[in-house]
Amino acid sequence: MEVNYQNLNTYLKDNVSSNACGHVSNKIEHKLFEKIGGLYDDTYGYLSYLSIQSSDDTKVFIGAYPLHNCDVLKCKTCGQVVFFYFNDGGVAPRPAYVLADYSKEYIIDPTVKYVSISKEKLAAFIEAFNLKALKNPDKIPDGYHANVKDYNGRYIFNYREFKSTNNEKVSFDLVAPRDFLRSVHQWIKAYDNDK
Ligand SMILES: [Zn+2]
Repeated sequence: MEVNYQNLNTYLKDNVSSNACGHVSNKIEHKLFEKIGGLYDDTYGYLSYLSIQSSDDTKVFIGAYPLHNCDVLKCKTCGQVVFFYFNDGGVAPRPAYVLADYSKEYIIDPTVKYVSISKEKLAAFIEAFNLKALKNPDKIPDGYHANVKDYNGRYIFNYREFKSTNNEKVSFDLVAPRDFLRSVHQWIKAYDNDK
């Protein structure tokens, strides 16, 4: 079974490892692990580098940085699952590893999309998705982390940035369920030029 963003939780619950072999530490040797899947989802366009945290720290959001684009690896000896990604914080991306925490719940939604849209299309975009907060961008929280409390809505507003990257584009991170972000992606692809 290939592990993906949809079946990760089930896989972890069925394959709890005690990390007994000692292979897993802060310095992980890649060759001691085998790839068993990945958490990528290419159906909603540009990924974002926004991280999401739950208020009680019992959940891990796999649609946000850093797990949104990671490989899933497993220790060949003890079965400990490890997430492998590239730390993209600077000029040279560095390989990075996060151990799976079997006590946590890995959450599919909400996830994050980086949206970049032509200024001339913004009004129609707001109208199409009823994104009223975009009309008052100065009230949108700023930062590299979004905190999610009792999430159950269609979308939430927490953008890393809302700014004009040049005279023609407005860019921001949108936190919402994947289906919603897929619709956003399709709309922008049809009416603008999202890739
Ligand atoms: Zn091991």
